[in-house]
Amino acid sequence: MPLYDYRCEDCNHVFEAMHGIDEPPPTCPNCGGKRVSKIITTISFKVDHGERLSRIEKRYKDYIRWGKYKDAAKFAEKAAQYVKHDKVKRMVEEGKERLLKKKRKIY
Ligand SMILES: [Zn+2]
Repeated sequence: MPLYDYRCEDCNHVFEAMHGIDEPPPTCPNCGGKRVSKIITTISFKVDHGERLSRIEKRYKDYIRWGKYKDAAKFAEKAAQYVKHDKVKRMVEEGKERLLKKKRKIY
């Protein structure tokens, strides 16, 4: 079932509602108003999420490329707080490992 974003015309409350395509729009959970308009952001929101993920990956790889393993590990951990995704989790693991390996090489 698709998830839609709505904005209430009466109180400007923005809310998400899950319903079938042919079902009528929901009423505002804030004021009960029936004049709600669909915001077409759900799809772009998902794209954004993917985009954010690839941006995180790129930045992480940049840190690695620059040899900033500590920053990479820190960055991955911070990113994992905001983006719950297996790829980010793997980044955190990998970042820690790299950091350990690097330490072993130096000392
Ligand atoms: Zn409302």
